[in-house]
Amino acid sequence: MHDLSLQTNRFLRALPEEDRQRLLIGADLIEIKERHSFYSMRETITHAYFLLSGMSCFLIRMRDGRAVDTGSVGVEGFVGLPLVFGGRASIYHCIMQLPGSAWKVRAEVVQRMQDSAGPFRDLCQRYAHARYKQAAQSAACNLLHTVEQRFARWLLTSQDHCTLKTLPLTHELISEMLGANRSTVSLIAEKFDHDGLIQYRHGQVKIQHRERLLHAACECYGTISQILLQSTDLVDVQDHR
Ligand SMILES: [Zn+2]
Repeated sequence: MHDLSLQTNRFLRALPEEDRQRLLIGADLIEIKERHSFYSMRETITHAYFLLSGMSCFLIRMRDGRAVDTGSVGVEGFVGLPLVFGGRASIYHCIMQLPGSAWKVRAEVVQRMQDSAGPFRDLCQRYAHARYKQAAQSAACNLLHTVEQRFARWLLTSQDHCTLKTLPLTHELISEMLGANRSTVSLIAEKFDHDGLIQYRHGQVKIQHRERLLHAACECYGTISQILLQSTDLVDVQDHR
């Protein structure tokens, strides 16, 4: 039962079997398309989503319509973190950035397990701390690092979470994620393509040279990846700098 979760989602894999089964009883295994909106800012969170593939992002949207990515979740965690603090209103606009699949768990189940002491609550606390650090690092990154560095970081993070060989990423989408204008993104994409780091064709990005992309990215890629992996005490760290 639920073998798929053992293979992919690190948060679920870190739970004892008994807790994992309690969490997933009644859960639905679903496919999620790119750009799917989980919930907007201040919208009620009805479910948590434990990703098995793909990547979701948290956008903060300003009154003038501009938005920027402030964090992401992939197979290391889950969407719906406010639930573990007793909250039901989303503080982000949460969307599925790269298509994938997930276990969809009712909010009441998550909150009931969180209410009793045990491995699930302990793991949630560690994971919440990691997400807090991710948000802090992202805030510093958005202010101090260049669009080019953040673009490279974002491509690497996307590749970590995506099971597809090419990433379905349009300039418009990347612009929104980075809070940069499309012409800037286009110029950087052309430069990365020209230098052999990526191949970018018709809204599809294929990473050609990961090592060089790592050098183009800021330190935040390795820092954030490490923080999230450590939150579930797993050591299959990828090639971080
Ligand atoms: Zn950075």
